[in-house]
Amino acid sequence: MKRPAHFEDPNTREVIVVGGGIAGLSAAIYLGRAQRDVVVIDSGHSMAKWEPVVQNYLGFPNGVGGEELLKNGRSQARRYEARIVCDEIKTVSARKSIFVLKGKRKTYRTKRLLVATGIFHLPPEIPGVKECLGHSMFFCKDCDGYRVRGKRIAIIGATNEAVEYALGMLDYSACVVVATNGREPQWDKKHARWLAEYEIPVAVKRIRDVDHRKRKIHALEFAGEKSVRIDYIFTTRGDIFHNQLAKKLGARLDSDGQIKVDQCMRTTVPRLYAAGCVTPANCQMIIAAGQGAAAAQAINRDLFEESLASHSLRRFRDAQLADDKTVPEVSKTKPKRRTR
Ligand SMILES: Cc1cc2nc3c(=O)[nH]c(=O)nc-3n(C[C@H](O)[C@H](O)[C@H](O)COP(=O)(O)OP(=O)(O)OC[C@H]3O[C@@H](n4cnc5c(N)ncnc54)[C@H](O)[C@@H]3O)c2cc1C
Repeated sequence: MKRPAHFEDPNTREVIVVGGGIAGLSAAIYLGRAQRDVVVIDSGHSMAKWEPVVQNYLGFPNGVGGEELLKNGRSQARRYEARIVCDEIKTVSARKSIFVLKGKRKTYRTKRLLVATGIFHLPPEIPGVKECLGHSMFFCKDCDGYRVRGKRIAIIGATNEAVEYALGMLDYSACVVVATNGREPQWDKKHARWLAEYEIPVAVKRIRDVDHRKRKIHALEFAGEKSVRIDYIFTTRGDIFHNQLAKKLGARLDSDGQIKVDQCMRTTVPRLYAAGCVTPANCQMIIAAGQGAAAAQAINRDLFEESLASHSLRRFRDAQLADDKTVPEVSKTKPKRRTR
């Protein structure tokens, strides 16, 4: 006998996952397979969509499209009876031990809440470059450094982070330039020394335009100058963390705005969990999937312990005993005697 969609209160879900990207779907698969009543609420903007060929996810030697990974994740979660609804949660409150989530379409109630809302990488302030995202404009050295080996690479930024990016990219290419896009360099002396020591050129003029065709960058056009041939750009403008729901519930954030979690993805607020790029993890799909799984296991364990403490497992057991056969039948045929 499977526990009915919430055994105790039909209007309150056992678990709601806000965010149906990599972390949220991974959690939903685990929670569904743990027989939990789980709903995933997703507004449909997973960053994974932007990656045409994911090369670093275990099990896909020829790569897999980010969109395809999400589609497969959704059907895998549905297979284990997780519900996935399309909505955007605007606000949340806690009433006693229940979280109330107000979405654009509906209001939802849940005993445990997992926030897997991800982040938004700020694109560079360069006109017309957005369509190159994921094809020749990138944010992440770990995701995309390998695929740009030996190419002409510009790091857009004026901070220490931009300098460190440029230095890190030397592992992949000898042709690396830092372009501040008209900003005064803000890197410190140590980073300036590194730029000089490693002979990395710096362009400080504003980027007037990017010459690109079919999402492939060919050159950067600097204000008042000739264009410079470039194949790929990496940008380091920073991220916006979708932490509003956790913040509203009083969860502790770090100085960047990432939701603080323990090893089991519990936040500082009881019954509230977080997973994926909205936490201080390195923002990678396989890490987000692992964190989603870890959060789901912690939620499952916590719900189990709660069901013992509140005796709801006992009430469920009563229902089982009334309905189902609980003891295996004794076989009427005699077991065969073993012959030597
Ligand atoms: C261009 C690009 C290329 C990348 N390439 C790679 C790669 O090759 N390899 C790799 O490992 N990683 C790559 N990444 C990073 C990867 O996409 C992320 O690590 C991964 O998607 C993080 O998963 P997540 O679940 O934390 O967030 P996401 O997958 O972004 O999912 C968050 C979900 O939450 C939803 N959401 C947010 N707020 C709300 C709300 N209030 N209500 C309802 N839903 C909400 C969003 O719509 C979204 O669907 C790439 C990222 C980009 C941008």
